[in-house]
Amino acid sequence: MLAVVPRLPSWLLAIPLRSATLPPATHTTCYLLGREQAIVVDPGSAYPGELARLRPAIHRLLGSGGALAAILLTHHHRDHVAGAATLALELRVPVIAHERTLARLALVGVRTRALGEGAQLALEPELALEVLHTPGHAPGHLCLFEPRERVLLGGDMVPGLGTTLVDPGAGEGDLATYLASLERLRALEPALILPAHGPPLAEGEAAIRRLIMHRLWREHRVEGALRLEPRDALALAREAYAELAPWQIGLALRSTLAHLEKLEREGRAAREGERWRRGVRAFR
Ligand SMILES: [Zn+2]
Repeated sequence: MLAVVPRLPSWLLAIPLRSATLPPATHTTCYLLGREQAIVVDPGSAYPGELARLRPAIHRLLGSGGALAAILLTHHHRDHVAGAATLALELRVPVIAHERTLARLALVGVRTRALGEGAQLALEPELALEVLHTPGHAPGHLCLFEPRERVLLGGDMVPGLGTTLVDPGAGEGDLATYLASLERLRALEPALILPAHGPPLAEGEAAIRRLIMHRLWREHRVEGALRLEPRDALALAREAYAELAPWQIGLALRSTLAHLEKLEREGRAAREGERWRRGVRAFR
């Protein structure tokens, strides 16, 4: 089968920047949206030289009469925000993000503006982006949706490469919330998804459906690893992620904990100290 290489909309530039992200990804794609009023989304690199790769595009925009309105952050993880303060101060523009993202960042000397569910970003007469609050991967995660061409700027919600880590620890992920946000995005039936990591995804609705199915399949594996006798999460991760290489077990453990917390709330797993066993609902 021929691979579908999606055409990007004319109002958008994708500029992958090398960033401190999780393998197998090595870059965070920074997007420049709009030609009259423009916004930069997720300048996530602090490596010398990487932000410099953005500047020609921004200067071309300014040279052709456009204006840069703001820097938008999809969420607070460092591989999305690392270059934001530098760029905001240099270009004298505010940083806009969800209030739960701004609360987690120390943007010294930078103007900020909170943006939430239902906001509209009107960049051109024919181009208005809808702001969606999609928590789960991070509490303040935002996506942008362009309804005419049905283009979704998905941040870390739908990976183009590797998997999105839903980390219930410091990353503040929540799997049930993540799945609910994915269902919401799927209902938009996006034709094209522009992820923060990896290439664009054509047939976005099908990509989200596959992602949800994969998560539920993994949940089934984690639930299947639970016994009457409690076991620690590492033993469960080794069984539920048996196909992974040993060096990946750390991330698998974080994911396993995310599944266990969801299963616990649903009565399908129970915690005994640091160990987990089957929940009462598992017997029905
Ligand atoms: Zn992230």
